[in-house]
Amino acid sequence: MSEPPSDCLFCRMVTGEIRPDVVRETDRTLAFRDINPQAPTHVLVVPREHHATLGALAAADPGLTAELVAAAHAVAVQEGLVTAEGAEPGYRLVANTGPQAGQTVHHVHLHVLGGRGLGWPPG
Ligand code: AMP
Ligand code: ZN
Repeated sequence: MSEPPSDCLFCRMVTGEIRPDVVRETDRTLAFRDINPQAPTHVLVVPREHHATLGALAAADPGLTAELVAAAHAVAVQEGLVTAEGAEPGYRLVANTGPQAGQTVHHVHLHVLGGRGLGWPPG
């Protein structure tokens, strides 16, 4: 893990300096509602440890990467987007990486989106 930037928004949420609307937490992950929701359910799931992108996290810690995905699925179940074993009605995970994808916070996060039909291809 590289040294986190001191002004990282999501690190400040992990430490409690900024208080997000938390929906679920584990010892290694935190899930909270997006401040600018793009769907009826829009939750961000982050590892407590700072990694800039999903690729960087996967290279540094495959186990934590799997925990992050499992945490996102648990949020989707909790929000009524799917049953634990099923895929109905469904949800989408998004991990924007880099400027062309629109990444604005450089602390890896999975967007959990659902509660409406989601168009494809994305914008
Ligand atoms: P991305 O553009 O993929 O980096 O996603 C960053 C997300 O963080 C955006 O969807 C923002 O709406 C969201 N966001 C920014 N500030 C906050 C905040 N204070 N609390 C919750 N979500 C935030
Ligand atoms: Zn961070």
